[in-house]
Amino acid sequence: MTSPLSVDVGGNAAYRISIGPDLRHDGTLLAHTLRGRHALVVSDAHVEPLYATDVVDALHAAKPGLSIDRFVLPPGEHEKTLARFGECLDALARLGATRDATVYALGGGVVGDLAGFAAACWMRGIDVVQLPTTLLAMVDSSVGGKTAVDLPAGKNLVGAFHPPRAVIADTATLRTLPERELRAGLAEVVKYGAIFDIAFLDWLEQQAEALLARDDAALAEAIARSCAYKAGVVARDPFERGDRAMLNFGHTFGHAIETEQGYTGTLGDGLNHGEAVSVGMVLAARLSTALGLAPQVDEDRLCVLLARLGLPVTLPHGLEPHALVARMRLDKKADAQGLRLILWEGAGEARIVPGVDEDAVRAVLAA
Ligand code: NAD
Ligand code: ZN
Repeated sequence: MTSPLSVDVGGNAAYRISIGPDLRHDGTLLAHTLRGRHALVVSDAHVEPLYATDVVDALHAAKPGLSIDRFVLPPGEHEKTLARFGECLDALARLGATRDATVYALGGGVVGDLAGFAAACWMRGIDVVQLPTTLLAMVDSSVGGKTAVDLPAGKNLVGAFHPPRAVIADTATLRTLPERELRAGLAEVVKYGAIFDIAFLDWLEQQAEALLARDDAALAEAIARSCAYKAGVVARDPFERGDRAMLNFGHTFGHAIETEQGYTGTLGDGLNHGEAVSVGMVLAARLSTALGLAPQVDEDRLCVLLARLGLPVTLPHGLEPHALVARMRLDKKADAQGLRLILWEGAGEARIVPGVDEDAVRAVLAA
């Protein structure tokens, strides 16, 4: 086995992100994260049949006598509920999990968020190890310690900051990821280049085909670099009180699109999160150009790269600018003076701009 790439997240709750092919078989790496004799592997019904046995076997081989069970969710965002969270806690109870038990979250962001929140709450907090299997989870949701479930009133309304003990990203699992999910993850990868590093955007332009072809080395490097950007912000601002908001580039627009469409992306007819963020980043770039903050060439460049990655770059038909701005106002990023948006001063340079005039936003949405 080639040695994995690694990124360390610093700060009070430091942990390591390991990235490489076939890490789910690496019993030594996995068992290193165990404190006690109980483990629960949480997964969903797409991922569990593909990869859970590998993880369980590797853990058993490395730590004989381990008491290990599985909890399997039906797939999809609409399962990230308090009811499923309760079932996950019941599974920990059945296992007889003690305070030194470990939860392994094997799956995409839905599994990671729900399992992470269950670990945050069981006996006031036990270890969670994130084993992300979507590109989005590898570059975003598994890193940073935010965990949550949804309520009928809105997404991620109940949750906790609960940093993982470790993140182990097995890039070989991406081979079975549906094409649309891969592209959605690439939107978040592009976001890091757009807000932090023009050189990373250059690299993504060179590697676009390799990434779409799921070349292992290209994916591993894209993930490691993305994690390094996210780790840097998270270590500086673990509770999202300042700088970390930068990661929301494209997201205030994107969330407005997702909410207007009623989160139908996974059901087929609306945009999924990454697609909505792709359109949202283009809109944020266009607004920056319109406000004289950034050059037109950089907006064009971002558009071309996202389109090459098979991502949408225009608003879907039927979405009303007024309705979208009303959603953006309700987003937690708005303040009394106007919209608080992450805009850019060109490729690789984002900043938080408070009090953005709503007419200017409507004009960009109507264009
Ligand atoms: P997801 O977990 O729903 O996974 C997408 C789909 O891919 C599912 O159908 C899943 O079963 C399937 N799948 C996963 N891995 C697979 C594999 N290797 N092979 C085949 N199929 C596979 O969605 P996601 O995009 O990974 O995550 C979205 C969630 O992440 C949302 O709930 C969002 O709120 C959350 N999120 C959290 C954070 C955070 O900081 N905690 C950040 C971003 C997003
Ligand atoms: Zn996102």
